[in-house]
Amino acid sequence: MTDRQGAVTVAGVGVEPLSETVTSARALVLEQPRYLVEHRLALPDIGDDDGLLRVEACGLCGTDHEQYTGELFGGFPFVPGHESVGVIEAVGDRAAERWGVQPGERVALAVFQSCRACGPCQRGDFRACRAHGLTDMYGFRPIDTTPGLWGGYAQYQYLAPDSTVMAVPQGLDPVVATLFNPLGAGIRWGVTVPGTSPGDVVVVLGPGIRGLSVTLAAKRAGAGFVLVTGRGARDQQRLAVAKRLGADAVVDVEHDDPVQTLRSSAGRLADVVVDVTARAPSALGQAVALARRGGTVVLAGTRGSTDTPGFAPDMVVFKELRLLGALGVDVGDYRAALDLLASPDAAPLIDVPRRVVGLGDAEELITTMAGEGDAPPVHGVIEPWR
Ligand SMILES: [Zn+2]
Ligand SMILES: [Zn+2]
Repeated sequence: MTDRQGAVTVAGVGVEPLSETVTSARALVLEQPRYLVEHRLALPDIGDDDGLLRVEACGLCGTDHEQYTGELFGGFPFVPGHESVGVIEAVGDRAAERWGVQPGERVALAVFQSCRACGPCQRGDFRACRAHGLTDMYGFRPIDTTPGLWGGYAQYQYLAPDSTVMAVPQGLDPVVATLFNPLGAGIRWGVTVPGTSPGDVVVVLGPGIRGLSVTLAAKRAGAGFVLVTGRGARDQQRLAVAKRLGADAVVDVEHDDPVQTLRSSAGRLADVVVDVTARAPSALGQAVALARRGGTVVLAGTRGSTDTPGFAPDMVVFKELRLLGALGVDVGDYRAALDLLASPDAAPLIDVPRRVVGLGDAEELITTMAGEGDAPPVHGVIEPWR
Protein backbone atom coordinates (compact mmCIF):
# COMPACT_ATOMS: atom_id res chain seq x y z
CA MET A 1 0.00 0.00 0.00
CA THR A 2 1.16 3.48 -0.70
CA ASP A 3 -1.36 5.64 1.06
CA ARG A 4 -3.18 5.93 4.37
CA GLN A 5 -6.45 4.55 3.11
CA GLY A 6 -5.24 1.01 3.58
CA ALA A 7 -5.06 1.27 7.37
CA VAL A 8 -7.04 -1.45 9.08
CA THR A 9 -8.87 -1.88 12.35
CA VAL A 10 -7.50 -4.55 14.64
CA ALA A 11 -9.64 -6.05 17.37
CA GLY A 12 -8.74 -4.72 20.80
CA VAL A 13 -6.60 -1.87 19.59
CA GLY A 14 -9.50 0.29 18.53
CA VAL A 15 -7.82 2.26 15.77
CA GLU A 16 -10.15 3.58 13.13
CA PRO A 17 -8.90 3.90 9.58
CA LEU A 18 -8.24 7.44 8.53
CA SER A 19 -11.04 8.74 6.44
CA GLU A 20 -10.16 10.66 3.34
CA THR A 21 -11.21 13.84 5.09
CA VAL A 22 -8.48 13.55 7.76
CA THR A 23 -5.64 15.55 6.34
CA SER A 24 -4.09 17.15 9.38
CA ALA A 25 -3.15 16.51 12.99
CA ARG A 26 -3.40 18.59 16.13
CA ALA A 27 0.14 19.19 17.35
CA LEU A 28 1.79 21.30 20.02
CA VAL A 29 4.71 23.35 18.74
CA LEU A 30 7.29 24.80 21.11
CA GLU A 31 7.73 28.04 19.19
CA GLN A 32 10.16 29.42 21.78
CA PRO A 33 10.77 28.65 25.43
CA ARG A 34 7.47 28.70 27.34
CA TYR A 35 5.43 29.16 24.16
CA LEU A 36 3.79 25.81 23.52
CA VAL A 37 1.18 26.56 20.88
CA GLU A 38 -1.33 24.29 19.17
CA HIS A 39 -0.98 24.03 15.40
CA ARG A 40 -2.64 21.90 12.76
CA LEU A 41 -0.03 20.16 10.69
CA ALA A 42 -0.75 18.48 7.36
CA LEU A 43 -0.37 14.72 7.29
CA PRO A 44 2.23 13.49 4.81
CA ASP A 45 1.58 11.03 2.01
CA ILE A 46 3.14 7.72 2.91
CA GLY A 47 5.33 5.98 0.36
CA ASP A 48 6.96 2.57 0.21
CA ASP A 49 9.62 3.37 2.78
CA ASP A 50 7.90 5.30 5.53
CA GLY A 51 4.87 5.27 7.78
CA LEU A 52 2.57 7.14 10.09
CA LEU A 53 2.01 6.53 13.82
CA ARG A 54 -1.28 7.36 15.49
CA VAL A 55 0.12 8.56 18.82
CA GLU A 56 -1.80 7.09 21.75
CA ALA A 57 0.48 8.30 24.53
CA CYS A 58 3.70 10.24 24.94
CA GLY A 59 5.60 10.07 28.22
CA LEU A 60 7.35 13.08 29.74
CA CYS A 61 10.75 13.18 31.40
CA GLY A 62 13.24 15.82 32.53
CA THR A 63 14.17 16.55 28.94
CA ASP A 64 10.64 17.74 28.23
CA HIS A 65 10.56 20.42 30.87
CA GLU A 66 14.15 21.44 30.14
CA GLN A 67 13.11 22.00 26.53
CA TYR A 68 10.04 23.91 27.68
CA THR A 69 11.88 26.23 30.05
CA GLY A 70 14.65 26.82 27.52
CA GLU A 71 17.52 25.02 29.26
CA LEU A 72 17.56 22.67 26.27
CA PHE A 73 15.93 24.81 23.60
CA GLY A 74 17.19 24.15 20.07
CA GLY A 75 16.66 27.68 18.74
CA PHE A 76 13.87 26.68 16.34
CA PRO A 77 10.16 25.78 16.61
CA PHE A 78 9.53 22.04 16.96
CA VAL A 79 7.03 19.45 18.16
CA PRO A 80 8.49 17.99 21.38
CA GLY A 81 7.85 14.47 22.63
CA HIS A 82 10.26 11.56 22.42
CA GLU A 83 8.56 8.78 24.42
CA SER A 84 5.83 7.84 21.97
CA VAL A 85 3.64 4.77 21.91
CA GLY A 86 0.95 4.35 19.30
CA VAL A 87 -0.60 2.32 16.57
CA ILE A 88 0.71 1.97 13.06
CA GLU A 89 -1.80 4.00 11.07
CA ALA A 90 -0.19 3.57 7.67
CA VAL A 91 2.98 1.94 6.46
CA GLY A 92 4.59 1.39 3.09
CA ASP A 93 5.28 -2.13 1.89
CA ARG A 94 9.06 -1.93 2.18
CA ALA A 95 8.86 -0.23 5.57
CA ALA A 96 6.40 -2.86 6.83
CA GLU A 97 8.82 -5.59 5.90
CA ARG A 98 11.82 -3.79 7.38
CA TRP A 99 10.08 -2.99 10.67
CA GLY A 100 8.10 -6.24 10.86
CA VAL A 101 4.82 -4.44 11.44
CA GLN A 102 1.36 -4.18 9.97
CA PRO A 103 -1.20 -1.38 10.24
CA GLY A 104 -3.07 -1.58 13.53
CA GLU A 105 -0.14 -2.90 15.56
CA ARG A 106 0.90 -1.11 18.72
CA VAL A 107 4.54 -0.03 18.84
CA ALA A 108 6.97 2.09 20.82
CA LEU A 109 9.13 4.46 18.81
CA ALA A 110 12.89 4.72 19.38
CA VAL A 111 14.17 8.27 19.82
CA PHE A 112 17.02 8.14 17.33
CA GLN A 113 17.15 7.40 13.61
CA SER A 114 19.39 4.57 12.50
CA CYS A 115 21.00 3.69 9.15
CA ARG A 116 21.08 0.07 10.40
CA ALA A 117 24.43 -0.40 8.67
CA CYS A 118 27.22 1.53 10.42
CA GLY A 119 29.21 0.11 13.33
CA PRO A 120 27.40 1.98 16.11
CA CYS A 121 23.97 1.09 14.66
CA GLN A 122 24.89 -2.57 14.52
CA ARG A 123 25.72 -2.37 18.22
CA GLY A 124 22.34 -0.73 18.90
CA ASP A 125 23.96 2.65 19.73
CA PHE A 126 21.88 4.78 17.38
CA ARG A 127 23.01 8.01 19.07
CA ALA A 128 26.36 7.59 17.34
CA CYS A 129 24.94 6.63 13.91
CA ARG A 130 27.29 8.01 11.27
CA ALA A 131 24.38 9.00 9.02
CA HIS A 132 22.09 10.50 11.71
CA GLY A 133 23.27 11.02 15.28
CA LEU A 134 21.69 13.61 17.55
CA THR A 135 20.54 16.12 14.92
CA ASP A 136 17.44 14.28 13.74
CA MET A 137 16.21 12.67 16.95
CA TYR A 138 12.47 12.63 17.58
CA GLY A 139 11.12 15.39 19.76
CA PHE A 140 13.84 17.85 18.83
CA ARG A 141 13.66 18.45 15.09
CA PRO A 142 12.57 21.69 13.39
CA ILE A 143 8.96 21.97 12.33
CA ASP A 144 10.02 23.25 8.93
CA THR A 145 11.77 19.96 8.18
CA THR A 146 9.04 18.19 6.21
CA PRO A 147 6.59 16.91 7.41
CA GLY A 148 7.09 18.61 10.78
CA LEU A 149 5.42 15.81 12.75
CA TRP A 150 8.63 14.79 14.53
CA GLY A 151 7.36 14.65 18.08
CA GLY A 152 4.84 12.89 20.28
CA TYR A 153 2.90 16.01 21.36
CA ALA A 154 0.70 15.40 18.33
CA GLN A 155 -2.07 13.11 17.17
CA TYR A 156 0.16 11.65 14.49
CA GLN A 157 3.90 11.22 14.26
CA TYR A 158 5.81 10.63 11.06
CA LEU A 159 7.78 7.39 10.78
CA ALA A 160 10.79 8.24 8.66
CA PRO A 161 12.49 5.41 6.73
CA ASP A 162 15.31 5.11 9.28
CA SER A 163 13.02 5.00 12.31
CA THR A 164 12.95 2.01 14.65
CA VAL A 165 9.69 0.74 16.07
CA MET A 166 9.42 -1.92 18.76
CA ALA A 167 6.40 -4.16 19.33
CA VAL A 168 4.53 -3.45 22.56
CA PRO A 169 3.69 -6.68 24.42
CA GLN A 170 0.08 -7.76 24.10
CA GLY A 171 -2.20 -6.28 26.72
CA LEU A 172 0.18 -3.55 27.88
CA ASP A 173 -1.68 -0.24 28.22
CA PRO A 174 -0.19 2.44 25.94
CA VAL A 175 0.13 4.95 28.79
CA VAL A 176 2.07 2.39 30.83
CA ALA A 177 4.05 1.35 27.78
CA THR A 178 5.57 4.86 27.55
CA LEU A 179 7.68 3.73 30.52
CA PHE A 180 9.76 1.85 27.92
CA ASN A 181 11.85 5.00 27.73
CA PRO A 182 12.70 5.71 31.41
CA LEU A 183 12.91 1.99 32.19
CA GLY A 184 15.21 1.43 29.21
CA ALA A 185 17.34 4.21 30.67
CA GLY A 186 17.18 2.56 34.08
CA ILE A 187 18.47 -0.71 32.64
CA ARG A 188 21.28 0.93 30.69
CA TRP A 189 22.35 3.50 33.28
CA GLY A 190 21.86 1.30 36.33
CA VAL A 191 23.16 -2.01 35.02
CA THR A 192 24.67 -2.08 31.53
CA VAL A 193 26.94 0.98 31.70
CA PRO A 194 28.34 0.44 35.24
CA GLY A 195 28.37 -3.36 34.89
CA THR A 196 26.35 -3.88 38.06
CA SER A 197 26.85 -7.39 39.41
CA PRO A 198 25.03 -9.60 41.92
CA GLY A 199 25.73 -8.49 45.47
CA ASP A 200 26.78 -4.95 44.53
CA VAL A 201 25.95 -2.01 46.75
CA VAL A 202 24.22 0.56 44.54
CA VAL A 203 23.21 4.14 45.37
CA VAL A 204 20.66 5.94 43.21
CA LEU A 205 20.69 9.73 43.53
CA GLY A 206 17.28 11.14 42.68
CA PRO A 207 13.90 9.34 43.02
CA GLY A 208 12.25 10.57 39.80
CA ILE A 209 10.88 8.14 37.27
CA ARG A 210 14.40 7.49 35.98
CA GLY A 211 15.83 6.91 39.45
CA LEU A 212 12.97 4.55 40.27
CA SER A 213 13.65 2.72 37.01
CA VAL A 214 17.33 2.41 37.93
CA THR A 215 16.26 1.00 41.31
CA LEU A 216 14.11 -1.69 39.71
CA ALA A 217 16.78 -2.57 37.14
CA ALA A 218 19.55 -2.77 39.75
CA LYS A 219 17.52 -5.04 42.04
CA ARG A 220 16.65 -7.31 39.13
CA ALA A 221 20.34 -7.47 38.24
CA GLY A 222 20.95 -8.88 41.70
CA ALA A 223 22.23 -5.80 43.54
CA GLY A 224 22.73 -6.77 47.17
CA PHE A 225 21.81 -3.39 48.60
CA VAL A 226 20.21 -0.34 47.00
CA LEU A 227 20.00 3.07 48.68
CA VAL A 228 17.90 5.80 47.04
CA THR A 229 18.25 9.48 47.89
CA GLY A 230 15.71 12.29 47.65
CA ARG A 231 15.37 15.81 48.93
CA GLY A 232 12.57 17.32 51.00
CA ALA A 233 8.86 16.74 51.44
CA ARG A 234 8.19 16.55 47.70
CA ASP A 235 10.27 13.40 47.38
CA GLN A 236 8.69 11.46 50.28
CA GLN A 237 6.09 9.78 48.09
CA ARG A 238 8.75 8.85 45.55
CA LEU A 239 11.02 7.38 48.19
CA ALA A 240 8.09 5.26 49.36
CA VAL A 241 7.73 3.94 45.80
CA ALA A 242 11.48 3.21 45.76
CA LYS A 243 10.99 0.95 48.77
CA ARG A 244 8.18 -0.90 47.04
CA LEU A 245 10.53 -1.42 44.09
CA GLY A 246 13.00 -3.11 46.38
CA ALA A 247 15.20 -0.30 47.71
CA ASP A 248 16.79 -1.49 50.96
CA ALA A 249 17.05 2.03 52.36
CA VAL A 250 16.09 5.57 51.43
CA VAL A 251 17.44 8.87 52.67
CA ASP A 252 16.24 12.47 52.59
CA VAL A 253 19.48 14.42 52.04
CA GLU A 254 17.85 17.54 53.47
CA HIS A 255 17.93 15.93 56.92
CA ASP A 256 20.45 13.09 56.79
CA ASP A 257 23.93 12.55 55.46
CA PRO A 258 23.71 9.89 52.74
CA VAL A 259 27.28 8.66 53.36
CA GLN A 260 26.54 8.04 57.03
CA THR A 261 23.23 6.38 56.15
CA LEU A 262 24.95 4.11 53.64
CA ARG A 263 27.71 3.16 56.06
CA SER A 264 25.27 2.34 58.84
CA SER A 265 22.73 0.51 56.67
CA ALA A 266 24.85 -1.29 54.06
CA GLY A 267 28.00 -1.50 56.16
CA ARG A 268 30.21 -0.08 53.41
CA LEU A 269 30.42 2.40 50.55
CA ALA A 270 28.91 1.83 47.10
CA ASP A 271 30.25 -0.19 44.20
CA VAL A 272 28.01 1.78 41.87
CA VAL A 273 26.50 5.27 42.23
CA VAL A 274 24.02 6.46 39.61
CA ASP A 275 23.27 10.19 39.57
CA VAL A 276 19.93 10.89 37.92
CA THR A 277 19.17 14.07 39.83
CA ALA A 278 17.70 17.24 38.37
CA ARG A 279 18.61 20.69 39.69
CA ALA A 280 20.86 19.20 42.37
CA PRO A 281 24.33 20.68 41.79
CA SER A 282 25.72 19.07 44.95
CA ALA A 283 24.87 15.57 43.69
CA LEU A 284 28.25 15.05 42.00
CA GLY A 285 30.10 15.72 45.23
CA GLN A 286 27.76 13.33 47.02
CA ALA A 287 28.23 10.67 44.35
CA VAL A 288 32.01 10.80 44.71
CA ALA A 289 31.75 10.65 48.50
CA LEU A 290 29.38 7.67 48.35
CA ALA A 291 31.53 5.55 46.04
CA ARG A 292 34.02 3.06 47.43
CA ARG A 293 37.62 3.01 46.32
CA GLY A 294 37.65 1.71 42.72
CA GLY A 295 33.90 2.21 42.45
CA THR A 296 31.90 3.49 39.50
CA VAL A 297 29.91 6.72 39.26
CA VAL A 298 27.44 7.10 36.39
CA LEU A 299 26.31 10.62 35.47
CA ALA A 300 23.14 10.09 33.49
CA GLY A 301 20.92 12.57 31.75
CA THR A 302 21.70 16.24 31.40
CA ARG A 303 21.67 18.63 34.32
CA GLY A 304 21.98 22.02 32.64
CA SER A 305 24.40 23.44 35.22
CA THR A 306 28.14 23.83 35.62
CA ASP A 307 27.96 24.25 39.41
CA THR A 308 29.35 21.35 41.41
CA PRO A 309 29.62 22.52 45.03
CA GLY A 310 31.31 19.96 47.24
CA PHE A 311 32.89 18.11 44.32
CA ALA A 312 36.54 17.32 45.06
CA PRO A 313 38.32 16.15 41.88
CA ASP A 314 41.16 14.80 44.01
CA MET A 315 38.76 12.32 45.56
CA VAL A 316 38.25 10.82 42.11
CA VAL A 317 42.01 10.36 42.00
CA PHE A 318 42.49 9.06 45.55
CA LYS A 319 39.63 6.60 45.14
CA GLU A 320 40.58 5.73 41.54
CA LEU A 321 36.92 6.08 40.56
CA ARG A 322 35.45 5.41 37.16
CA LEU A 323 33.32 8.43 36.22
CA LEU A 324 31.05 7.46 33.31
CA GLY A 325 28.62 9.59 31.33
CA ALA A 326 25.42 8.12 29.92
CA LEU A 327 23.30 10.08 27.47
CA GLY A 328 20.62 7.83 26.08
CA VAL A 329 19.43 4.30 25.66
CA ASP A 330 20.33 1.51 23.24
CA VAL A 331 17.53 -0.17 21.37
CA GLY A 332 18.21 -3.47 23.15
CA ASP A 333 17.51 -1.77 26.48
CA TYR A 334 14.19 -0.46 25.17
CA ARG A 335 13.19 -3.97 24.18
CA ALA A 336 14.26 -5.35 27.56
CA ALA A 337 12.22 -2.59 29.22
CA LEU A 338 9.07 -3.46 27.25
CA ASP A 339 9.44 -7.12 28.27
CA LEU A 340 10.01 -6.15 31.90
CA LEU A 341 6.92 -3.90 31.87
CA ALA A 342 4.85 -6.93 30.91
CA SER A 343 6.17 -8.91 33.91
CA PRO A 344 4.84 -8.81 37.51
CA ASP A 345 8.14 -7.34 38.76
CA ALA A 346 7.26 -4.00 37.18
CA ALA A 347 3.96 -3.60 39.06
CA PRO A 348 5.23 -1.01 41.60
CA LEU A 349 6.67 1.07 38.75
CA ILE A 350 3.44 0.83 36.79
CA ASP A 351 1.49 1.95 39.86
CA VAL A 352 3.45 5.17 40.45
CA PRO A 353 1.41 8.36 40.88
CA ARG A 354 0.74 9.48 37.35
CA ARG A 355 -1.02 12.35 35.64
CA VAL A 356 -2.37 11.89 32.14
CA VAL A 357 -3.57 14.93 30.19
CA GLY A 358 -4.73 15.86 26.72
CA LEU A 359 -2.94 18.34 24.47
CA GLY A 360 -4.91 21.21 26.01
CA ASP A 361 -3.49 20.62 29.50
CA ALA A 362 0.01 19.57 28.47
CA GLU A 363 1.59 22.95 29.15
CA GLU A 364 0.34 23.07 32.72
CA LEU A 365 1.57 19.52 33.38
CA ILE A 366 5.01 20.28 31.96
CA THR A 367 5.26 23.44 34.06
CA THR A 368 4.38 21.39 37.12
CA MET A 369 7.02 18.82 36.23
CA ALA A 370 9.55 21.64 35.92
CA GLY A 371 8.98 22.21 39.64
CA GLU A 372 6.79 25.27 39.25
CA GLY A 373 3.42 25.22 40.97
CA ASP A 374 1.82 22.07 42.35
CA ALA A 375 3.77 18.99 43.41
CA PRO A 376 4.60 17.09 40.24
CA PRO A 377 3.36 13.55 39.62
CA VAL A 378 6.07 10.88 39.41
CA HIS A 379 5.04 10.11 35.84
CA GLY A 380 3.44 12.52 33.39
CA VAL A 381 1.90 11.41 30.11
CA ILE A 382 0.17 13.21 27.24
CA GLU A 383 -2.68 11.49 25.42
CA PRO A 384 -3.12 13.51 22.21
CA TRP A 385 -6.61 12.14 21.53
CA ARG A 386 -7.93 12.72 25.03
ZN1 LIG B 1 12.59 11.29 27.95
ZN1 LIG C 1 24.10 4.14 11.54
